[in-house]
Amino acid sequence: MPPRELPLPTVLEPRGRTFGEEERAAVLRVLDSAVLCGAFGTEARALETETAALTGAAHAVSCSSGTAALHLAVAAAGIGPGDEVVTTPLSDFGTVAPVLAQGAAVVFADVREQDGNLDPQAVEAAITPRTRAVIAVHLFGGAADIRALREICDRHRLTLIEDCAQAWLAEDEQGRPVGTLGDIACYSLQQYKHITAGDGGLATTGDPELARRMRLFMDKGWDRTEGRIHRTMGLNYRMPELVAAVARVQLTRVAEVVARRRASAARLAAALPGIPGATLAARPAGHSWWTVPLHVDDNTRWAEALHTEGVPALPGYLERPLYANPALSGRTTGRCPRAERLIDRTLLVLPWNEAYGAEETDRIAQALGKAAAS
Ligand SMILES: *Cc1c(COP(=O)(O)O)cnc(C)c1O
Repeated sequence: MPPRELPLPTVLEPRGRTFGEEERAAVLRVLDSAVLCGAFGTEARALETETAALTGAAHAVSCSSGTAALHLAVAAAGIGPGDEVVTTPLSDFGTVAPVLAQGAAVVFADVREQDGNLDPQAVEAAITPRTRAVIAVHLFGGAADIRALREICDRHRLTLIEDCAQAWLAEDEQGRPVGTLGDIACYSLQQYKHITAGDGGLATTGDPELARRMRLFMDKGWDRTEGRIHRTMGLNYRMPELVAAVARVQLTRVAEVVARRRASAARLAAALPGIPGATLAARPAGHSWWTVPLHVDDNTRWAEALHTEGVPALPGYLERPLYANPALSGRTTGRCPRAERLIDRTLLVLPWNEAYGAEETDRIAQALGKAAAS
């Protein structure tokens, strides 16, 4: 018997994450300073400056999660009761929770069959006189059609929010970085993302007024330069210093993380023509490969066959579209048929990892080959 291969690395173990001596030193630096709250230390502010530099935005505001970052964005856009926000049903619940928290309504537009990103035509058709904003998600690390969405938002005077939680350093077809055409872009540092500090979020913008409102909403509406005055409604979404210190180091690693993912995803893509029945559900140009999404004929069968080979795979990414969750309407079918078909039938999502090299990638390709033959 050949020796049993090591399981593929995951984000829940050291070999599937990129923590090193620098992160350890950062944690100890903060602990030794005795200042652990972001309101009084230097780490969260430094992370904001460094994030702005990395993403090319004029302003960045740190906060406690990607969901919090989206809440800063939605609150800064002035969204409240009676307003509608158009977005995709194929995303993390964090995309829509902030809209609900503001007492506004989420209106779901269908996605493109090809890559699961919002269909701009469906977005335009979902706009009503009550619509105030569009939240575009760059799903799995592949850019949404942000130019078309920008044009639609400009024409209807809507705020465009980019959810970049899965798309660190992704670019659109023309090579423009995601997060630079919307009014606000939101990032997550949750355990499963490209880089992590456990939890954490960042919102970037070119607009100083949106930045000011987001900063106030992040810290109880309290501009700490002018005494104890609460200018606006705000929550406590501050990022702790320990988190910010780790995030600062992780930020220096994200380019390498994305480069490694691009190399291994390209290797898998090159093997796909030899695997009948599986094609890439993404445009490779500019993709940052949070996951590798595939089109298959029966995602449940493929996922089961891959699990047998020790390769993790998610049929459909979600179990149900966001609108079919009890927290929303719970209505299950018919609203966004393309999203439903992807989830129920044709989308197979491979979790990806920067620790995947040639060996791991070839193993995954082999497992796909076996699944195709089964
Ligand atoms: C992870 C994620 C979020 C939420 O981020 P958290 O840090 O988990 O709150 C929002 N949108 C998308 C697309 C995500 O993948």
